[in-house]
Amino acid sequence: MTEQDLNEPSDSRYDVVVVGGGAAGLSAALVLGRARHRTLVVDAGEPRNAPSAHMQGYLSRDGMPPAEFLATGREEVARYGVELVRDRVTDVARGGDFTVTLERGGRARARRIVVATGLKDEMPDVPGVAERFGRDVLHCPFCHGWEVRDEPFGVLASSAAGVHQALMVSRWSKDVRFFLHRVAEEELADLDLRRLAAAGVDVVPGEVAGLVVEDDRLTGVRMADGTVHSRSVVFAAPRPVPRTGLLERLGAEMDRTPFGTYPVVDGNGLTSVPGVWAAGNAIGFSEQVVHAASGGYRAATAIVGDLRMADLDAALDG
Ligand SMILES: Cc1cc2nc3c(=O)[nH]c(=O)nc-3n(C[C@H](O)[C@H](O)[C@H](O)COP(=O)(O)OP(=O)(O)OC[C@H]3O[C@@H](n4cnc5c(N)ncnc54)[C@H](O)[C@@H]3O)c2cc1C
Repeated sequence: MTEQDLNEPSDSRYDVVVVGGGAAGLSAALVLGRARHRTLVVDAGEPRNAPSAHMQGYLSRDGMPPAEFLATGREEVARYGVELVRDRVTDVARGGDFTVTLERGGRARARRIVVATGLKDEMPDVPGVAERFGRDVLHCPFCHGWEVRDEPFGVLASSAAGVHQALMVSRWSKDVRFFLHRVAEEELADLDLRRLAAAGVDVVPGEVAGLVVEDDRLTGVRMADGTVHSRSVVFAAPRPVPRTGLLERLGAEMDRTPFGTYPVVDGNGLTSVPGVWAAGNAIGFSEQVVHAASGGYRAATAIVGDLRMADLDAALDG
């Protein structure tokens, strides 16, 4: 389907504006459209898994290219009259209705809001790592482990917590080297060292200078002293940066975690701001596609109920 611009943005009043058209936002929109709610999805078009050629672990869609998954989702929601706009929401203001401001100048009003803006992965500043992300620099064994099983893995520590990643990925390969990079060996707990030994993970002290890439394939990890370790896959730990600026500006209660600051939500994604729900990676860094889709669905069913009761109560009062 073609993505359209708002025709008369300043006059548009929607039941719901969904900010973000990834798995979470589109799933919410599907439920809202099927419940006959006038719904607008505004999507900036930068889904988190865009660097990957394939999406794994979503039952019945295992291996589907992420772009195809989202294109199918957009087609499905459009069947129910949901409007989609390729733009970025720069502000959401509270009033009787919410007023949503778009980067290209449009505006829309909405009775309820779903924030499904995902997160951005900030890669460790080791040369080559960001460029190879989603190909042979990976972060998630559940997303990619099967595809690279039994290959020689490197794990790049960003902190002592990198031990967990090294231990986890050792399920998928017996040949794992854990590069301490800027982490001193003394920072690792005794139990961690014993677990690494039990898993057969080699601990490599010293700073990593960069990746060796030949013919567009990762072939090794180069240390600052010039040594090269032959590796075809490196697991790294990007810093998750949730796109929660809109929620913070709306005054939502936020929870600071070691993996980013996320809104406090109930089981359906309702934030502390009445009328504003959130879903997907906007509420937690570990939400996979199937969780994000599920979260969007839950938020939408809660909104349908909320709007229904609001309308009935207004009729009673009127
Ligand atoms: C390399 C990589 C590979 C992955 N592989 C897998 C896998 O195989 N299987 C799996 O289950 N999970 C995988 N994931 C995780 C997956 O990407 C997330 O679970 C999923 O993208 C979360 O969906 P979401 O809808 O919350 O966010 P996203 O998919 O990131 O979608 C958010 C959307 O909101 C838009 N947006 C943000 N801010 C605004 C704004 N202000 N206005 C308008 N639009 C906005 C963004 O541009 C984006 O299009 C992978 C992640 C990475 C990094």
